[in-house]
Amino acid sequence: MARIVVIGAGVGGLATAARLAVTGHEVTVFERADTVGGKLGRYVHDTPEGAYRFDTGPSLLTLPQVFHELFEATGAKLDEYLDLVPLDPIVRHVFPGGGPTLDSCADPAEFAARIGAAFGDRAAADWQRLWRRATRVWDASHRDVLRRTVDSPRDLAALAWRLGDLAAIAPGRTLRGLGRRHLSDPRLRMLLDRYATYTGADPRRAPAALVAVPYAELTYGGWYLRGGLAGLADALLSRCLDLGVVVHTGATVTRIDAAGGRVHGVRLAGLAAPIPADVVVANVDALTLYRDLLPSPRRLAGLTDRSLAGFVLLLGVRGDSGLAHHTVFFPDDYDAEFDAVFGDPGRGLRARPALDPTVFVTMAADPAVRPDGHEAWFVLVNAARHGTAAGAVDWRRPGLAEAYADRILDVLAERGADVRDRLVFREIRTPADLDATTGAPGGAIYGTAGGLLRPANRGPAAGLWLVGGSGHPGGGLPMVTLSAEIVATAIGPAW
Ligand SMILES: Cc1cc2nc3c(=O)[nH]c(=O)nc-3n(C[C@H](O)[C@H](O)[C@H](O)COP(=O)(O)OP(=O)(O)OC[C@H]3O[C@@H](n4cnc5c(N)ncnc54)[C@H](O)[C@@H]3O)c2cc1C
Repeated sequence: MARIVVIGAGVGGLATAARLAVTGHEVTVFERADTVGGKLGRYVHDTPEGAYRFDTGPSLLTLPQVFHELFEATGAKLDEYLDLVPLDPIVRHVFPGGGPTLDSCADPAEFAARIGAAFGDRAAADWQRLWRRATRVWDASHRDVLRRTVDSPRDLAALAWRLGDLAAIAPGRTLRGLGRRHLSDPRLRMLLDRYATYTGADPRRAPAALVAVPYAELTYGGWYLRGGLAGLADALLSRCLDLGVVVHTGATVTRIDAAGGRVHGVRLAGLAAPIPADVVVANVDALTLYRDLLPSPRRLAGLTDRSLAGFVLLLGVRGDSGLAHHTVFFPDDYDAEFDAVFGDPGRGLRARPALDPTVFVTMAADPAVRPDGHEAWFVLVNAARHGTAAGAVDWRRPGLAEAYADRILDVLAERGADVRDRLVFREIRTPADLDATTGAPGGAIYGTAGGLLRPANRGPAAGLWLVGGSGHPGGGLPMVTLSAEIVATAIGPAW
């Protein structure tokens, strides 16, 4: 049995803790916030009419099998804790120019038929061709990358990828390039481009292999958890406690003791005595780990400061808008949005709030999350990370957040979803807020990493492991949960 310390109670930290505890280890979690869940947060707004309950982070659960497997591995059934609701449409896509909308769904043949009905036979045939390619990329990455440690480019190169796999993965090609090659309809190209933002990336730079992301969503479905996705954090905490994990909230780890090339424990803010540990699992962002928590700061190859953050509005809305559970409203000029939020110091372009951004609205028809006759809207817009560098925006600048919130409401009105006269209240969450509440550097939604090869799960000292969205295999709830499986398997059982 090893004494294991987990730093951070995000989904990755809790999932690893539960997996390790069930195999006999003594596991303690230190979380600096007062609640668990990290980015998977919730906000409750009470009004005389009743309470509005918002997920402040994820609103779409994909790859449900990953969560079923997690609960089974810890000796429980997911259905005893959570009520998964399949979504159809998964997302309603509203394109510029006011033409037909497109509803995505988890049945590839049906989705192709919907594309055909909306945009014509050629668009449907294009999509099916892309889909065949996506299938090959998914099969290869699922088989070789998503369930094992990948420590270096050499590891990736050494994988027994077949020639066909490599042709499909097209190293060197971007997701944008893949869309251009396969899709003639600009609306489908936009739809494909958007999946790069699921990993925090710019489609013009993101690898074509990200076509596996829509494959996963549109094959295994998009899901809602009744009562809100934050219920997943509650369920994981409950599993951890049942398995004997000790969880301390309000406990900030300030340093990892790693003299002589192996971990010995961690230091907590406000506590002089070290906490001894044989193994340390860091669920903090890789940038934070390497820069702030190790005895001597290190630079880590593969980290990028070009990862997306998000500007969020939480709206209490009177009446019935008739929106789908998820609606994405695309802009006229998608590239102008990417130029704004990523900036380009090379071309002298500073990052800035996009004036005409894509707007993603989540509105659950779930009586548990809003008073009768009202709606709880979660509105998410791609945003530059928080900071003062050229590629960032100082979201604390006086007046900026309020002015940008007004702008987003105007944009929604221009695109046919005007709620300005029906607002009961609005709350704003900027990238600076996400940074402050979860420790995500600059408010990066999916971790400060990008590309195919993220920081390895194996840390730079013996007994140190990285779990969570900034490491391998990537950000988003299912990837983070897979990282927990990879790390727990690598550490092995106590017996
Ligand atoms: C607005 C938004 C929308 C999103 N939408 C989706 C979506 O629809 N679907 C999806 O799958 N994913 C989505 N994501 C991404 C998803 O939320 C993350 O990938 C995932 O929750 C990250 O989990 P994690 O394990 O990496 O840990 P995190 O959630 O990053 O948690 C890390 C934890 O470590 C703690 N911590 C940090 N430093 C210390 C320290 N020094 N000592 C102790 N504790 C510390 C933090 O407080 C935090 O609780 C979204 C994220 C955001 C913000």
